[in-house]
Amino acid sequence: MANDLKRQFDLFAPEFEQKALEVLRKGWYVLGEEVSAFEQEFADWIGAKYCVGLGSGLDALWISFRLLGIRPGDEVIVSSNAYIACVMGITMNGGTPVFVDSDRYLNIDVSKIEAVITSRTKAILAVHLFGQTCDMTEIMRIAEKYNLQVVEDCAQAHGNHWQGRTAGTFGIAGCFSFYPTKGCGAFGDGGAVVTDDAELARKLRIFRNYGSEKKYYNSMLGTNSRLDEIQAGLLRVRLSHMQDLNAERQHLAECYSKGINNPLIEKPSVRPGADSVWHQYVIRCPYRTELIEYLNRYEIGSIIHYPIPPYLSEAYAYLGTPEGSFPCTEKAAGEVLSLPLYNGMTEAEQNYVIQVLNNFHATVL
Ligand SMILES: *Cc1c(COP(=O)(O)O)cnc(C)c1O
Repeated sequence: MANDLKRQFDLFAPEFEQKALEVLRKGWYVLGEEVSAFEQEFADWIGAKYCVGLGSGLDALWISFRLLGIRPGDEVIVSSNAYIACVMGITMNGGTPVFVDSDRYLNIDVSKIEAVITSRTKAILAVHLFGQTCDMTEIMRIAEKYNLQVVEDCAQAHGNHWQGRTAGTFGIAGCFSFYPTKGCGAFGDGGAVVTDDAELARKLRIFRNYGSEKKYYNSMLGTNSRLDEIQAGLLRVRLSHMQDLNAERQHLAECYSKGINNPLIEKPSVRPGADSVWHQYVIRCPYRTELIEYLNRYEIGSIIHYPIPPYLSEAYAYLGTPEGSFPCTEKAAGEVLSLPLYNGMTEAEQNYVIQVLNNFHATVL
């Protein structure tokens, strides 16, 4: 299996069960004490002043951009190698995504950002893909120089760092997803924005609840994007173990990096200065189709993140970005493969994957 979500429940089952019953018996199910407590604890953990719980990671992105004033005609710079939700956070506001190719770390190539800045550029979306932080020093330098806002997509990077500082605290808004497969996963949908900006936090709280601060008095147009009490309660349990869970993933990644030894497989590397919480362990292989088939034969699941870059997806055909525009991203799309890595994965399970991978030979091809 590529991921085993049930394991995440089993690891702390008694705590989750107790919390779920506690919330069910309280009789208050949306935006209550659990959400407030989680927001405080999550903000503290990240090292931000405020956290606002929302319905999903996509909501965290599009609502942030909406409240930061992104409108039709505005351009937002984003890596061409990203999850489609990153781009939707921009286009849902009518903004134009301006893509920049990725580098060998599969994140935005910061050396190519300045060349695409125009008078319409309003923001940079820094996506910390696969658990690894972008070069935030360079992104913040460019943003300051051109007076751009920085939003961080931390949906795959809960609690990782750039030069010792936590991802999500560099830009004006750090956007998180608590989708079950994410590092800090709930048992359903959920998301949040962290910020040090009191005004943005206030607006987020109003916007997520139909634009209403006081019941039935609406000061702005908003939406319904609220974190459930049950999810917030379960997330508090998970958050209390995040330090260990991230350390476990880092250990698993280290074991892969030490154990995998096959000239046909390129292992992932981490940018100097960056941390990775290893949301995915992404290898590259020029014979990927054969490798997937081979792994399947040994009942090892693997996933391609992502087979089609957002700008080549049918949904974004209207942007008219031709194939070949971003060579590093397109080459990666043809070669990347995520190995099984999940909390609760046993040493025996991992050793089996390593052994099978090391036995992948040209003879199989
Ligand atoms: C999962 C994810 C999102 C979207 O989060 P949802 O909670 O599924 O809406 C956005 N960006 C990245 C990088 C993601 O991995």
